[in-house]
Amino acid sequence: MGRKLLLEKAHVENIRYFDVYRREGGYRSVEKALKSMAPDAVTEEVKKAGLRGRGGAGFPAGMKWSFLAKPEGVPRHLVVNADESEPGTFKDRYLMEFLPHILIEGMIVASFALGSNNSYIYIRGEYWWIVDILEQAIEEARSNGFLGKNILGTGFDCEIYVHRGAGAYICGEETALIESLEGKRGNPRIKPPFPAIKGVWDRPTVVNNVETICAVVPIINEGGDEYAKIGVGKSTGTKLISACGNINKPGVYEIDMTISVEEFIYSDEYCGGIPNGKRLKACIPGGSSVPILPANLLLKTAKGETRMMNYESLSDGGFATGTMMGSGGFIVLDEDQCVVKNTYTLARFYRHESCGQCSPCREGTGWMEKLLLRLEKGQGKMSDIDLLWDIQRKIEGNTICPLGDAAAWPVAAAIRHFRDEFEWHVLNPDEAVKRNYGLAHY
Ligand code: NAD
Ligand code: SF4
Repeated sequence: MGRKLLLEKAHVENIRYFDVYRREGGYRSVEKALKSMAPDAVTEEVKKAGLRGRGGAGFPAGMKWSFLAKPEGVPRHLVVNADESEPGTFKDRYLMEFLPHILIEGMIVASFALGSNNSYIYIRGEYWWIVDILEQAIEEARSNGFLGKNILGTGFDCEIYVHRGAGAYICGEETALIESLEGKRGNPRIKPPFPAIKGVWDRPTVVNNVETICAVVPIINEGGDEYAKIGVGKSTGTKLISACGNINKPGVYEIDMTISVEEFIYSDEYCGGIPNGKRLKACIPGGSSVPILPANLLLKTAKGETRMMNYESLSDGGFATGTMMGSGGFIVLDEDQCVVKNTYTLARFYRHESCGQCSPCREGTGWMEKLLLRLEKGQGKMSDIDLLWDIQRKIEGNTICPLGDAAAWPVAAAIRHFRDEFEWHVLNPDEAVKRNYGLAHY
């Protein structure tokens, strides 16, 4: 059984409410940080912890905090990215729904470290019921002296506001999120400048994922060095994985990144294996944007080593034979699943969510969707497979934001590892149509 840092108290009855959360040791990190630490010392602990951004990119959080510009007289902001929209990813929803106070606690500590007196939670529109949960938690924290003016008599002021998005995936991209928070259409900005220099209302801004900010609580309580002892290599601490697809026990799991992928899928502590004794075919381990891996490469790396559930091991081999930890949205496919159909579903999603600013993404996502649908309907040609490959190559690296790459990578990986299945669709058009009954209405 691995260490639980974030979900340890998740099953305590009424932990959603301040009194219970506090009785269970909540808000100790606020007391410790605000009363006995300097803001830079808090950042130093986060750096020592080796905490990597849990939204998907895995960028070192302490380093991001230390990049924050601090011009005299200009307000700075912490913005929590709660626009969790990556298909297969639902871990932040779990945290906010069941443990809202751990997010508020982490935000107060992070706001103190960054000098943010007004901090924001940007939450996806579809999580409408969680807005009330967060607002109640904020109100409880305020009435108990943990938010507002002169928190705990330390002279630090902080307010937290919840801002609801309107359901666009692209608003999870940090600069689109900033535009949307400012009341504009959520179009990504060109980086640099990074938000740390020019963010919301052109002020220095740190945008961090929900889980990243929650992890600040155990880091401050136990110390960065202790946190760094959990896990392995540059995969320190614990990671939440939202597991779904063809598994017996879908759900949100906290792992300490020292277990193997095989153990995660088959052990009763986690996914509990694949239903009906079916074989594992493939897995997308980090949310829909990361490359799909066939079972043989998922369980063992190309070097023949056991693939582990951590940043380094999952990406071992690069995109030729590896994938990415991403957001931890772990999607399992059994032997009955059609990779072409799965790739079509993703292509359709990315086409729909493209903001349309860059031609390669706007046009390319639409072309990929049409070609994949053609294959699915048994109307594809062999040359369509090469055309798909060519289109994804032309999108990757040629767009303003990572949505273009995210649309290209699943297509590239599907062709790389399952080309025979694409060819089967061309050679067996009638079978392909039968197998994909239900797609005809698209
Ligand atoms: P990124 O690598 O461009 O940036 C990571 C973070 O580091 C950003 O906050 C960026 O501002 C900061 N950064 C990088 N270099 C910097 C520098 N020199 N100075 C200051 N700051 C710097 O990646 P990203 O666009 O933030 O995220 C892409 C990832 O998001 C994808 O890998 C995908 O897995 C994930 N994703 C997650 C979801 C979700 O719902 N959780 C949805 C879509 C995508
Ligand atoms: Fe918009 Fe796509 Fe360009 Fe991102 S890559 S800015 S989503 S068009």
